[in-house]
Amino acid sequence: MTTDTNDPEAETPGTDTDTNTDATVAVVGGGAVGTLTALSLARRDADVTLFEAGEIAGGASGGAAGICYDAFADPVDAGMAAEAISILRDRDAIADLPYVWFAREGDERNAEAIREAVSRMQDNDRAVAIIDPSELGARWPGLRTDDLAVAAIARNAGVVDTAAFTRETAQFAVSAGAEIRTGTRVQLDGDGRVDGDAYDAVVVAAGAHTGRLLDGADLPLAVEAYRVQAYLSEPTPLSDRLPALYDATEGYYARPSDRQVLVGDGTVPEPRDPTDWKRSADGWFRGDCATYLETAVGEPLGERRSWAGLCTATPDGGPLVGERAPGIYVATGFQGHGFTRAPAVAERLAEQVLGGDGVDAYDPTRFDGDESFEIVEGMSPDPE
Ligand SMILES: Cc1cc2nc3c(=O)[nH]c(=O)nc-3n(C[C@H](O)[C@H](O)[C@H](O)COP(=O)(O)OP(=O)(O)OC[C@H]3O[C@@H](n4cnc5c(N)ncnc54)[C@H](O)[C@@H]3O)c2cc1C
Repeated sequence: MTTDTNDPEAETPGTDTDTNTDATVAVVGGGAVGTLTALSLARRDADVTLFEAGEIAGGASGGAAGICYDAFADPVDAGMAAEAISILRDRDAIADLPYVWFAREGDERNAEAIREAVSRMQDNDRAVAIIDPSELGARWPGLRTDDLAVAAIARNAGVVDTAAFTRETAQFAVSAGAEIRTGTRVQLDGDGRVDGDAYDAVVVAAGAHTGRLLDGADLPLAVEAYRVQAYLSEPTPLSDRLPALYDATEGYYARPSDRQVLVGDGTVPEPRDPTDWKRSADGWFRGDCATYLETAVGEPLGERRSWAGLCTATPDGGPLVGERAPGIYVATGFQGHGFTRAPAVAERLAEQVLGGDGVDAYDPTRFDGDESFEIVEGMSPDPE
C-alpha cells in the first residue's frame, strides 16, 4: 500500500477534497461502504463518528470474493465501477486480472445475452470484447474451454482482498480524523437520532441490516437480504492458470485466490432475517462446487473452507444510495456487486451529504419502500 496510514495529512489517492465542512455525521456500518464513506467525509473535514456493531469488515465485506470489473451494460453502473477501479488502483489494492464470462454449447439464451451485453458495454466505451474460446484456453490453460459457445473478456478488472482493504480504509479514516466505535450496535429513531444523539446527517451503510434500521425510524426501504455462498478449494497449481470468471450456463463464478480457487454464488433467492441466518455453506452447495470445478478445470478440487454471507436485493436490481429522508442517507441494495462500486459510491455519497449531487439512478426514493418483489440473482449475463 502506498499511503502512509500514520499521516493524517496524507492524501488518499483518487479522492477530491474540495468541499470543506464541520458538519457532524454519523456513519452506521463498518463494511467497505461505511468505512469508505467515513474516509471521504473525514477528508472533507466533516466531524465523523462511525458505529460498527461488531468488528470492521465483519459483514459481507469481510467474506466477499473481491472480483471487480467495469463490465456493466448499464452506463451508470459501468461509470461507477470504472471510477472505483481507478481508486482501487491508486491505492495499490487491486491485482489486475481479466474477467471472462461465457455460455456453453446448447445454452443459446445465455449466449445471446452475452453477445447483446458486450455490444452495449462497448457502446459505453468499456474494454470488453468477444473472445474465441480457443484463444481463452491458450491464455489460461487451467480453464476447460472445449465446450464453450460464446466467451467475453473484460480487461479493466481485477481481484481485491476485501477484508484487508476495508480494515485499511478504517485506519485511513481514523488518520483523517474520524472516530470509529466498534462493538457498538446502534438504533435510529424517526428524527434521525442515533441512540438518542443528534447529528447533522446520518449515513446508514449497515449492509443487510439497513432495511431493519430504517424500519425502526418508520422509513421503509425496498430492500431484502438474501443468502449467497462461497467455497475455497484446496491449493492447486491450476490457480495460476485461471482468470476471474463467470460461467453463465452453470451459474458459478470463480477466481484464483493465492494458490486456491474460490468458487461462488450458491444464491438462495429468499428473504432472510439479517439477525437469524445460517452462516455456514449448505451441503448441496459444497458438493456442487467440487463437481463444478471438475467441469471448469478438469479436477474435482476438495474443500479447504466454505461460508455464507448476505447480499441485498431491490425491486429493479439497482442500488439504493442517497437521501431517504432529510438528513438520513442510505447505501445498500448492491445485489452482489457492492464491493466493486463501493469506492465510487462512497465518494458520491459523501459529496451529497455535504450538499453536492447524488447519483440520480440510485436515488432510494424511487421506491415507496413497501413494494414486494422477487429476489433475482445478481450475477447474470443479461444486459439489464
Ligand atoms: C460470499 C460473497 C461474495 C461476494 N463477492 C463479491 C464480489 O466478488 N464483488 C463485489 O463487488 N461484491 C461481492 N459481494 C458483495 C459485497 O460483499 C457487498 O456488496 C459489499 O461488501 C457490501 O458492503 P457494505 O459495507 O454495504 O456491507 P457490510 O460489509 O455487510 O457492512 C455492514 C456493516 O454494518 C454493521 N451493522 C449492521 N447493523 C448495525 C447496527 N445496528 N449498528 C452498527 N453497525 C451495524 C454490520 O456489522 C456490518 O459490519 C459478495 C458478497 C458475499 C456475501
